[in-house]
Amino acid sequence: MSGIIGVLALQGGVVEHLAHLAALGLPARRVRQAADFEGLTGLILPGGESTCLSRLLRRYGLDREIAAGLRAGLKLWGTCAGAILLAREVVGETASLGLMDIRVQRNAFGSQLDSFNRTLQVPAVAPEPIPLTFIRAPKILRLGTAVSPLLEIDDYCAAAEDRDILVTVFHPELTPSLAFHRYFAGKCGIPLPPREDVPADWQADSWVDYAPIPCHPRHAAGGAGRGRSAG
Ligand code: GLN
Repeated sequence: MSGIIGVLALQGGVVEHLAHLAALGLPARRVRQAADFEGLTGLILPGGESTCLSRLLRRYGLDREIAAGLRAGLKLWGTCAGAILLAREVVGETASLGLMDIRVQRNAFGSQLDSFNRTLQVPAVAPEPIPLTFIRAPKILRLGTAVSPLLEIDDYCAAAEDRDILVTVFHPELTPSLAFHRYFAGKCGIPLPPREDVPADWQADSWVDYAPIPCHPRHAAGGAGRGRSAG
């Protein structure tokens, strides 16, 4: 087990995930081609635009690499568009990777302007309430028997997992919370000590303006930058 977590870097919210992994002191790598899978323990499929991501995955043959990686023990985490890519069923569309037995509905809350923040308890992930950012998010409408819900809200599921795959319809990487990245590290077999990490000045009504996460010293020199993405 290498302890390296990859972030699929074709389109979408890549640098935000890299910054969160760096803040936890976890070795991470951008994944753009088959060779980048070498020695990975986990792979994050970021938010972005799932049709675009799906086409790029196929064009570069990374759909096959991800499926083969999963069979070989690679852990996967899809955030928002990443969760759509992983779903076996997508309402009204052909599924992309189809690796997790869930049914999702894209853009289930409306337009980009209907994006929002919530701060909610996710007991399996952290003892304190976690800020959650939904950007033109999907809803998870059905879970297969091997899939467990981590967070259910109203009529939908917002986070779920099976043995090897985590999906969140929201974006932990766009908040100051490291809780979900720490949780995924644990799923990858890289346990990290739990601790409170949401600054007291976190504003639940903004999903873009938040205090930068301090970089772990190990990554401070060449660390990931910050940017805005995820569509
Ligand atoms: N609406 C996008 C899609 O359906 C997902 C948005 C996101 O990843 N924030 O692909």
